[in-house]
Amino acid sequence: MDDNKKVFYRNQAEGLIKKLELHKMKGYYCDTSAQAKEKILELIGEGKKTVAYGGSMTIDDMGVKDLIVKRGHDLIVRENAHTKEEIKELKTRVINSDTFLMSTNAITLSGELINVDGRGNRVCYLIYGPEQVIVVCGMNKVVTDIEEGINRVKNFASPPNTVRLKKETPCAKLGRCGNCVDDTICCQTVITRVSMVPGRIKVILVGEELGY
Ligand code: SF4
Repeated sequence: MDDNKKVFYRNQAEGLIKKLELHKMKGYYCDTSAQAKEKILELIGEGKKTVAYGGSMTIDDMGVKDLIVKRGHDLIVRENAHTKEEIKELKTRVINSDTFLMSTNAITLSGELINVDGRGNRVCYLIYGPEQVIVVCGMNKVVTDIEEGINRVKNFASPPNTVRLKKETPCAKLGRCGNCVDDTICCQTVITRVSMVPGRIKVILVGEELGY
């Protein structure tokens, strides 16, 4: 990435972190995803902690899950739950976890998180449950306002996601949202304005393009 863009990202993040603070969320800035990985581990803390995660290309691409396991934490692997009983147990473990790790679909310059979810198993733990939520967000996901953020999700993030998930949705075929209902991944739109528990939501902004 060119140096000018790096300076721009840093300056933009500085203002955004102040806005997050007003919304009772903690904000951090890392130039690279390597630094962000270290920050995640620092925020998870020492000792054996329980860590869960929501589906996220950003988290997958960072390769941080292996590091969490190497540190001796108890990583709740959602892909291991198949039966009804296993899924039920998984939900209980995640809601009681120490840390929930996720990305966000967009973040506004005013410090609001925008997430569009299908089943809701990502946004529900952002809202309630785990002791802390660590949100990792590439600076490519910063938008001016909520309207732009929802547009970003529907027309720029969901299309590649539905292609990845082999969905038959309009966005997968046409590259733009067709407001579908069948087989949709857009059932819940959650705007997180304030962290009700001050500091529970921590946002790590990364000066790279991460995720969709
Ligand atoms: S509503 Fe349907 S078409 Fe629009 S982004 Fe979501 S999945 Fe794609």
